[in-house]
Amino acid sequence: MEKVIIVGTGCSGLTAAIYAARANLSPLVLEGHEPGGQLSTTTLVENFPGFPEGINGPELVMNMKSQAERFGARFRYSEIHDLEVNQGFLRVKIDEEWLETRTLIVASGASARWLGLPNEKCLVGHGLTSCATCDGAFYRNVPVAVIGGGDSAAEEATFLTRFASKVYLVHRRDTLRASKIMADRAIANPKVQPVWNSVPIGYLADELGEMRALKIKNLETGAESELEVKCVFVAIGHTPNTKPFKGKLDMDENGYLLQRHGTKTNIPGVFAAGDVADHVYRQAITAAGQGCAAALDAEKYLAGLNCE
Ligand code: NAP
Repeated sequence: MEKVIIVGTGCSGLTAAIYAARANLSPLVLEGHEPGGQLSTTTLVENFPGFPEGINGPELVMNMKSQAERFGARFRYSEIHDLEVNQGFLRVKIDEEWLETRTLIVASGASARWLGLPNEKCLVGHGLTSCATCDGAFYRNVPVAVIGGGDSAAEEATFLTRFASKVYLVHRRDTLRASKIMADRAIANPKVQPVWNSVPIGYLADELGEMRALKIKNLETGAESELEVKCVFVAIGHTPNTKPFKGKLDMDENGYLLQRHGTKTNIPGVFAAGDVADHVYRQAITAAGQGCAAALDAEKYLAGLNCE
């Protein structure tokens, strides 16, 4: 019987792991298909307190993981598929195995959203991606496009100017939602060309199945046009990773877990932390704060159970 299982190794899961490990609960942390969460695919993080010069996202999560391991957190590469409630304990299905635990901290984060256009799935990895940090360097001296108007889109557009000859920033409105500093930085870059009031309506591939152009529509004029680009970077937000918990844990209409009295969910012993339950703040530091709170809530719950 585990005392604490933590799902997710982003900022919230790793902070929960540090706190639970330091409380001698020897947490088992499940790493899914996106280890390190969203920070692992970002570049310089300039707003995490304590790093006046900024710190690279992957380095920040690696540091958190080492810190958790130092205090006895255990890590396992596994996806969670199901959750069952028994009297006084929980059962979670990971791969083909059921594990028993007193508490569960769900910090499974959120994953990149896609546009849902035809041939999208075929083109991923062939000139279509959601991660500039991972794939940007493959597109040197060629034009690329970024879709979206948030911080991710602004950050990716700026980052891609290191490699690409030109970066079209395609946004469905005429102002970016991104924070002013990041929006200004992107727009001021001479390689970034904003394409306002426009939405993608199709991906055009060449005879080898690689991205050739992005077809867009201007929402004001209705005019359709093509942007000749070798890669499209989709940065239109995220969907919470809550599929295994559907019908078990209370969620809002977009699938975000609902918290009550801190990080508690509707099931006693199950706690939610970070982007899986937060569509408002969605910052590394707020996710870390919730991870801390979830570990403290789990610790308190275990003390109340009064069992080893
Ligand atoms: P976001 O803020 O939700 O922005 C998504 C953008 O995509 C919006 O501009 C939205 O347009 C657009 N969009 C959504 N669906 C679309 C569709 N179907 N077609 C076309 N455009 C679509 O997401 P995000 O940029 O990933 O940021 C998420 C959170 O992470 C934010 O809190 C952000 O501050 C944070 N973040 C921080 C950093 C950093 O500090 N280094 C970096 C990245 C992200 P509308 O504007 O019209 O809604």
